[in-house]
Amino acid sequence: MTDHADCLFCKLVAGDIPANVVYEDDQLLAFHDIAPKADTHLLVIPKRHIVNLNDLSASDAELMSHLMLTIPTIARQQQLTGFRTITNTGAEGGQEVFHMHFHILGGAQLPGF
Ligand code: IMP
Repeated sequence: MTDHADCLFCKLVAGDIPANVVYEDDQLLAFHDIAPKADTHLLVIPKRHIVNLNDLSASDAELMSHLMLTIPTIARQQQLTGFRTITNTGAEGGQEVFHMHFHILGGAQLPGF
C-alpha cells in the first residue's frame, strides 16, 4: 500500500489522524466527513493512494467495482434509504483533498441537483 507522506487521507488510513470510521475492509475505508454538508455525510476512499478518477487505469477495475458495490452497503448500514454520491475530480472539479474519495450524502430530503 502506497502511503503518501503529505496526503491527509493516507494519514487517516495509517491511523495517524483520527477518523470516525463506519466501514473498513482490506481495500476501503469509509468515515464521517469532518464538515458535513448533509445530515449524514460520509467519505469512501481506497486505502491505496489514488489521486482521483483521472489517476485510474484498467488495473483498477476490480477495486472500482468493489468500491461502487460497497457504497450502497455502507448507505444501508447507515439507514439511508436514498443518498447522493459525488466525487470531485481536480481543482476545477472542486477537489480539495487529492486522494480519491466518494461523498455519500443523505439522511434527509436532498434538493434537486
Ligand atoms: P473534496 O472537496 O471533494 O476534495 O472533499 C474533501 C472533503 O474532505 C471535504 O468535504 C472535507 O470536509 C473533508 N475533510 C477534510 N479533512 C477531513 C478529515 O480530517 N476528516 C474527515 N473529512 C475531512
